[in-house]
Order: sequence, then C-alpha cells, then structure tokens
Amino acid sequence: MEYHTRLPDVEDAGKIDKPMPGSTTENALSLHRRAIIVDGHCDTPYRLHRRNVHLDEHDTEAQVDLKSLEESGITASFFAAYVPPHYAGRGAARFAGRLIDIIKTEAARLPDRLAFCTDAAGIDAAKRNGKVALMIGIEGGHAIEHSLDLLRDFYARGVRYMTLTHVNTNTWCDSSGDAPVHNGLNDFGRDVVRTMNDLGMIVDISHVSDKAFYDVIETTRVPIMASHSSCRALCSHPRNMTDDMLRALAKNGGVCMINFFAAFLNQKAAEVVMHAQKRSKESEASPRGDTEEMPDDRTDWDSYLEWFNTLGCPQASIDDIADHLIHAASVAGADHVGIGSDFDGVPALPHDLPTAAQLPRITERLLQRKVNEGDIEKILGGNFMRVFRAVEAGRK
Ligand SMILES: [Zn+2]
Repeated sequence: MEYHTRLPDVEDAGKIDKPMPGSTTENALSLHRRAIIVDGHCDTPYRLHRRNVHLDEHDTEAQVDLKSLEESGITASFFAAYVPPHYAGRGAARFAGRLIDIIKTEAARLPDRLAFCTDAAGIDAAKRNGKVALMIGIEGGHAIEHSLDLLRDFYARGVRYMTLTHVNTNTWCDSSGDAPVHNGLNDFGRDVVRTMNDLGMIVDISHVSDKAFYDVIETTRVPIMASHSSCRALCSHPRNMTDDMLRALAKNGGVCMINFFAAFLNQKAAEVVMHAQKRSKESEASPRGDTEEMPDDRTDWDSYLEWFNTLGCPQASIDDIADHLIHAASVAGADHVGIGSDFDGVPALPHDLPTAAQLPRITERLLQRKVNEGDIEKILGGNFMRVFRAVEAGRK
C-alpha cells in the first residue's frame, strides 16, 4: 500500500521529469502555463484546521501547500468548507463558518500570492496578476441547517458552490453514501436548488444519489457542476457518474470534474475499499446517536487513515485520470469535463501525482494521448469558467 503523504523533494517538485519518447514536455508546459486551470475541489482548509497549521507551513500530510499550489499551475482552487456528517444537527453552520474564516484568513495573510475570489472576473484577474485565486465551496448541504436564510448568508460570505450532500442523507436530499429517505430531492431540496440559482451559487451534485441528481437536473434553470466525481463506467463506485448521468449533465450545459482518489479511478481499488466499508459497517455496534460525544476531527481522520492503510488498496496512476477525462469527454463531449482533485481529502492519490505540484503531468499525458490543445484548455478550466459565467448571468 502506498500512502503518499510526503511532499516531493524540492528538485523534483513541479517538474515533468520523465519525458517519454516523442515527448511533448515543452508543449505541455507552455500549454499548462497559458491555460486558466480550475481545481473543482480541494480539502486543504479541513487539513489546516485538523493540523493547526497555515498554508505556507510545512506539514508532512500536505497534498496542497502554498508551494505545491503555485507549482501546480492552478489559477483558481475551490477550497472546501467541508462539514463532517457528525456536525449534522449539531453546529453544522457554525463549523462551515469556521472553515470559511480559515480560507479568508489564508488569503489575507498572503496577499502577494493569493487572492480571495468570488466571481469569474476575479479568476481572470488572478491569472493576469500571477496569483492563485481561492474560492469557497461548501461540502455537505447539512451546513445550511434546513434554512434558506443560512444559505443566503453563506452566499454573502463568499460561498460560490455547495454540494447538496456529503456521504450522509440530510433533511432534504439523498446521498449516494447513505440510505435514501426522500426519493431524491424533497420539496425543500427543490427550493434550495432554485434559491441557489437565484443567488448565483453553483449547484454541486458530487455525492448525491442518482435519483437526486436527476431531480436536480429537472429543477435547475442554469448549468450545474460535479466538483469532484469520476466515471462509473470505468470504476463502479456509487460516488461516480454513469454515462447516462454524464449525457444529462451535458444537456444541462454543466461540467463533471474528475476526482483523483484511487478508489474512484481504479476498479480494483474501489472494490477493496467498498468491501472493507461494508465489513466495518456490519461490525459497527450501533449508529451514532445525538447524545453521543462529538468525535474529535483530528482523531477521526487519523483513524480513517489508519483503517485505509490496512487495506492494501491498489494504486492508481495519472493514466487512470487521463482514462476518466477521455471517457467523460467521449460520452458528454469535451465541453463538459474538468478536474476536481479532492487534494487533502483523500488518503491515496495516483502514485505519480503525490501532490498538487505534479499537475502539469496531466496536461502532458493528455497531449501524449492525442487530446487536442483546445480541448485540454477547456478541460483544465475553460469549461468551468463557462458554467460559472452562466450561473452568474442567471442571478435574479
Ligand atoms: Zn467529497
């Protein structure tokens, strides 16, 4: 089992260091540098919270820190205000607020290198000024505590997308990782989607159940996103999108941003993880009740890592990422695909992409696999920008 937590050696970081025969390395780097690159989902704020560190401080667990973020070539990264499911009904909004503050604080601490950003024009400006734009996306619809006023408040605080669920079904939307309760999206859930459309907050369907996805497609009047979801045809995890969902997303004008987690990319890895999850669910004595003590975020994550490391999960590679990008493009069209790394939120990245610093290798691999430059630029960020502009234009 490879569990990549360490930053690469300084000399190695960010380089495309293995030119293949007929390599397009120079081409790849120049394309990568001129593209607007948007990462749909990155869990670094939760790591900063758990580890009590800043973005520019060394942390052996970091998949993204200031240095690797800059070396990645990313123009704008959606930093997740991730609300663990155990906060549902127990201070979820307050916890989201805490991570929002962390994101804004990091941007304010490093104003020469980062820019807190809330619109597409801000991303363009960050590109011109050579800064990395930090954006906020809430992960877990339980953060709004069943309140449209709280949703509006989050928009006012700079949140520009929300995943309708995390792995837990909440009071208005079913999750792919939990038992269905609402047969998809209930009436309040539809109000949430409409209110997000009106506000100009992108509806993010990563993590929701298949039925909830189709309910969202039926309800939304603007394009939506999957900020960090891969393809089920290649890796049959229920978190991933079926070909039919990809086609429906294309029809909606939206974008599916491919997740880099080994267990969402590689069929064998998915089977190992799903089997182990099933086993540990069966052995759980009883579900957590409301009166139970709140788990500590740090030890909760550490025990997850410990558990994952016992699985001997097969590795994924950049080729797997390329397979998913190319598959999604062949099913939905190259206009509907993007990247959503899930950096700092997953225990295993591809072995040849241990941190964000190696992101240029994806551009190189796509060129090697004969994806044309225009399509690569769209996949890296152009498609997200189109969706974001459409959502901004749809505000009421
Ligand atoms: Zn997630």
